[in-house]
Amino acid sequence: MTSFAYTSGPARVVFGPGVLDQLPEEVRRLGRSRVLVVSGAGTADAAARAAASLGPLLAGHFAGAAMHTPVDVTREALELVRGLDADCLVSVGGGSATGLGKALSVRTGLPQIAVPSTYAGSEVTPVLGETDETGKTTRSAPEILPETVLYDVRLTLGLPVPLSVTSGVNAMAHAVEALYSPDANPATGALAQRAITLLARALPGIVAEPGDLEARSDALTGAWLAGICLGTVRMGLHHKLCHLLGGSFGLPHAPTHTVMLPQVMAHQAAAVPEAMRVVAEALNVRDAPSGLYDLITSWGGPTSLRELGMAAGDLDEAARRVDVDGVRALLGTAYEGTRPPGPAAVPDFSALTGQVLASFAATPDPRVRTLVTDLVRVLHDYTNRNDLTQQEWEYAVDFLTRTGQLCSPTRQEFVLLSDTLGVSSMVDLLSNSRTPQTTPSAVLGPFYVPGPPPEPLGADIAGGLPGTPLWADVLIADVAGQPVAGAVVDVWQSNDDGFYDVQLPEQAGPVLRARFTSDTDGRVRFWTILPSEYPIPDDGPVGQMLAATGRHQYRAPHLHFMISAPGYRRLVTQLFVAGGAYLDSDTVFGVKDDLIVDFAPGSGAPPDGRAVEEWHQVSYTFRIAEEKP
Ligand code: NAD
Repeated sequence: MTSFAYTSGPARVVFGPGVLDQLPEEVRRLGRSRVLVVSGAGTADAAARAAASLGPLLAGHFAGAAMHTPVDVTREALELVRGLDADCLVSVGGGSATGLGKALSVRTGLPQIAVPSTYAGSEVTPVLGETDETGKTTRSAPEILPETVLYDVRLTLGLPVPLSVTSGVNAMAHAVEALYSPDANPATGALAQRAITLLARALPGIVAEPGDLEARSDALTGAWLAGICLGTVRMGLHHKLCHLLGGSFGLPHAPTHTVMLPQVMAHQAAAVPEAMRVVAEALNVRDAPSGLYDLITSWGGPTSLRELGMAAGDLDEAARRVDVDGVRALLGTAYEGTRPPGPAAVPDFSALTGQVLASFAATPDPRVRTLVTDLVRVLHDYTNRNDLTQQEWEYAVDFLTRTGQLCSPTRQEFVLLSDTLGVSSMVDLLSNSRTPQTTPSAVLGPFYVPGPPPEPLGADIAGGLPGTPLWADVLIADVAGQPVAGAVVDVWQSNDDGFYDVQLPEQAGPVLRARFTSDTDGRVRFWTILPSEYPIPDDGPVGQMLAATGRHQYRAPHLHFMISAPGYRRLVTQLFVAGGAYLDSDTVFGVKDDLIVDFAPGSGAPPDGRAVEEWHQVSYTFRIAEEKP
């Protein structure tokens, strides 16, 4: 059971390309008329456009926002707010501009409209981090949250690729830590997963084409969702370390997040496996920490604190300030930029797969083309996902070779393999048993021998083999219940020890298998012996597979039937002994409820005047479907 408390921030969010044009409207919506626009150095154009769009609503513009919200910058801007008698704050830019807007708002009580131009997420959090000469302090209060956010995708088009990558990973970090936050709840979990998925999809697109509006839109959406996570649940070690490294050691905000995230994830992975699984899935990698590291590398992002300008001599001091086991080693790895342990980077196989698929493009039969190309896709994906080694592949080739070599007219190891993997049952379900009025089909199995000996009705097919006599009396009918005369009914089964005749070297000729023809009443009667459970042959590759996987090799006791009649669809099925062993774990997955029947002890005189003491009987009506014209 999950328990949680969840409070969401009451902010208004307007999203889309060009929404900056709605700024005057949003100012009026808040009932304000004297706006101070605040921005940083890199977003002068956007800020100027915002200011111009405000017309008479503009009171002034402060363009000195700086990273980590230094309090002396805030003081300077505060004087301007007071001097201009501003009644509304509009921040245009990244987290630094948003931070200044928040710092001014919390000191003046003025409402804020945030127009973010990076993926930092600050615009949807009630958190403010400020720095002075003593370091960075953070506070959180509902009134810090901006009233309105305008996400104008166009503003982000000019965000340089390196900044886009680091800012995007900064957003991912909020989502990753939300997944294993002590306050995690289903809402933030879903937002986090979606945020990571969107950012992982968007960033390679932005790297390839920085002006790709779709990719930019995905990234900004991901940043918004990740920002909500950051503003809603407590963050963990990663944010703590980045806060320290930025606030006290002067490292740049988003690049520090980018270097640290894979390293902190590797450090936390064993404690939060489910979160790591979700992240790996969202990133579409096999292992979250090493996979993210590889992605960052492929996007050209930074991987070491050294390249961000951290002094090696500061590592001990940084570790001392964070009282967490193993943090010194973690910082050391981050300093060097060592790839977190994990499976090797996955090469991109799309060109190879594409080449192989293209080689089948001219296949004349469309069905053959579909079957072959889809098989290639599945095999390539399987090989890739499982990081198949040369040794494993050679084993697989040898396994299949041995499976083929064991096949003979009386031994079908490939059918057995298909049966034990459940494929035969799938094909059977797809091809047969599709009408509820007919008897369900069941797998053919590897022991059918075409052309069994014809026997008259009432014959005993046991050939004198030991076992409990069984009288079988079955009716072949159509779906309306009308008897089908002249139906050819092939029957086969194992002996009392669980072997079919073809498995017995000393057995000359067929036994416990026969071909009957239904009489004018559609009936077939014969003597045999009670079937018993039996192991499928385990002296070949299939037996090795079952042993290696800890599976048993038993089949539930059953009789096989193959029923054909002119104008009807052939029915291949089995009757299973009610109460028999392995009904719920048949090793070829052949049992169906409708085929489990009573093989009850016989009462009264045995049929055909046969002199037996103990005997059983089974009766059943097989319903077969007419062949569709
Ligand atoms: P930033 O705002 O400092 O921007 C980084 C650089 O990119 C700056 O030079 C800026 O001028 C430039 N830039 C921004 N947008 C641009 C654009 N569209 N085109 C071209 N250049 C552009 O960096 P950031 O990573 O967005 O924010 C970091 C700051 O935000 C830090 O101070 C951090 O502590 C704070 N932050 C706070 C929160 C919170 O919830 N309180 C959350 C995230 C970040």
